[in-house]
Amino acid sequence: MKPDGQIVQDTIIAACSPWSGRIAKGDVLRLIDLEGQQAIDFLCYNADDPQERYHAPNTIKIPGQIYLGKGSSLWSVRARKLMTIIEDTCGGHDTIFGCCSFALDEVRYGATNPRCCQHNFEEELARHGMGPRDVVPNVNFFMRVPVAADGQAMIVEGLSKPGDYVDLKADMDVLAVLSNCPEALNPATGSGPTPVRAIIYTPA
Ligand SMILES: [Zn+2]
Repeated sequence: MKPDGQIVQDTIIAACSPWSGRIAKGDVLRLIDLEGQQAIDFLCYNADDPQERYHAPNTIKIPGQIYLGKGSSLWSVRARKLMTIIEDTCGGHDTIFGCCSFALDEVRYGATNPRCCQHNFEEELARHGMGPRDVVPNVNFFMRVPVAADGQAMIVEGLSKPGDYVDLKADMDVLAVLSNCPEALNPATGSGPTPVRAIIYTPA
């Protein structure tokens, strides 16, 4: 579905690749899972003061909810809203499992993928004067991590269908950084990594 507003930027992000963009307060970032079941690892920062950044515990504690969906906000380490989900055709986005890395996959699977989200984040953050210490536990859009009553949690196949999207409205000027997840050793990317699309727009 075409966003209702003025397009600022429209980018196809190749499978396994990172992306970043600055979103002005009030503008919206639409993330589209073009082919379905594709995890998008996502971080965001106050564009003018990147020490203020996405904080998973605050994002979970303030609403008392571990999954993100329409109406959820991404809260900062200073307990301020960075972005708010104003539309979402999928729901159930993960806040607890963080990103994949070569080291983790070696431990989990005794193997690695050609790329990993940790490295993608580091590479993209370097373009903005940040480094490995700025990679914090991230949101995973379109990734499904059910948590059982006994606390068991694992990645299972995502529910997103081709074209599902999430609209994130910026509550302040933010820098959004994402990794289109390259993980092929678990169900985070369904049957394998695929492209996604990021559209920044000014709502009508
Ligand atoms: Zn990943």
